[in-house]
Amino acid sequence: MPRILDWWGKVVTTPEQQRFYTFTQIGKGWHPLLKEIFDFLPEDTCVLQVKEKFGELRVYTSAHHEGLQTLLNKSRTICELCGDAGTQRRINSWVHTVCSVCAEKIEKEGFRRQLIEE
Ligand SMILES: [Zn+2]
Repeated sequence: MPRILDWWGKVVTTPEQQRFYTFTQIGKGWHPLLKEIFDFLPEDTCVLQVKEKFGELRVYTSAHHEGLQTLLNKSRTICELCGDAGTQRRINSWVHTVCSVCAEKIEKEGFRRQLIEE
C-alpha cells in the first residue's frame, strides 16, 4: 500500500481518510482497479491525487512507475459506476466511461457519483 497524501501534502493515516482522499473521488466501478494499482505501487510511493479526467482514472504519484499507465488505461474499458464493460461516451457534453445502462441513467438523472457509494 502506497502512502496517501491529503490536499495539503500531509500523509493520511486513518483508513477513513485514505478512503476519502482516494476511493470517494471516483465511482465504485473503478474501485477494484484502484485496489490493483495500490497493490502494484511500492510502499514508499506517495499518492498525491486520485481522480477522473476525460473519462479516465488518473493516479498522480511522487515518482514515475513503469507499468502504472498500463493499469490506468484499463479504466477506458470499465464502467466507472458499476464495473461492467464500459466505453468512453460523451454524455451531456462530458466524457464518461460507462456501460449502456449507466449511460442512460446519466442522461436522465445527470452524473451523480455519490449515489452509487455505499
Ligand atoms: Zn455501468
